[in-house]
Amino acid sequence: MKVLNNTVTVLALQGLFIVGGFALNTTLAVRPALAQVAAATLSTQEQAGLRFMREEEKLARDVYAALSAKWKLPIFGNIAQSEQTHMDALLSIVTRYGITDPALKAAGKFSDPALQSLYDQLVADGSQSLQAALKVGAAIEEIDIRDLDEKLAGVKANDLRLTYENLRSASYKHLQSFTRQLQQQGVSYTPQYLSPEAYARAQSNSGRGGPAR
Ligand code: ZN
Ligand code: ZN
Repeated sequence: MKVLNNTVTVLALQGLFIVGGFALNTTLAVRPALAQVAAATLSTQEQAGLRFMREEEKLARDVYAALSAKWKLPIFGNIAQSEQTHMDALLSIVTRYGITDPALKAAGKFSDPALQSLYDQLVADGSQSLQAALKVGAAIEEIDIRDLDEKLAGVKANDLRLTYENLRSASYKHLQSFTRQLQQQGVSYTPQYLSPEAYARAQSNSGRGGPAR
């Protein structure tokens, strides 16, 4: 009876309702399950995806900051601030799981060589003209949505999934903002990275329940 009381106390402290003798039978099964919740881990694939997305959000922030300095159009500075919050959201998950943060302090510098060359190319492209800069913005958001779609397909951890979904909603809005500005300049944007279906989904998703223009 003493053993049963101790077991009930422990399980009650852990927020579980166990009734009577049932506790004795379930103790062995419950303990490993609780251990898993307490020590949740990310798969190797989830960790790699998280490190990549953390740097990709930095790429977005740093390109927009560079294009903001060049063209002085508010959209770049505003969206750069939004990308900072995306970097922060991913950093909190990086920290939670004890993963080494790949994001370098210096603006325009990346651990991932592919992201480094993408950054260099996008800033060079976006420096040609204001229209080219707005197209670079739309391209970055397309790349972001494509990569988040791909990562979401393999993600099981709920915190990571929710964060990716929030980031993707924001990218939909950013993409719409860039293509709207291009439209105002008489330029119709042609998607470069998303399938026609994924692009249509991005353009019709307002994050507020209705289609955005
Ligand atoms: Zn973002
Ligand atoms: Zn964005």
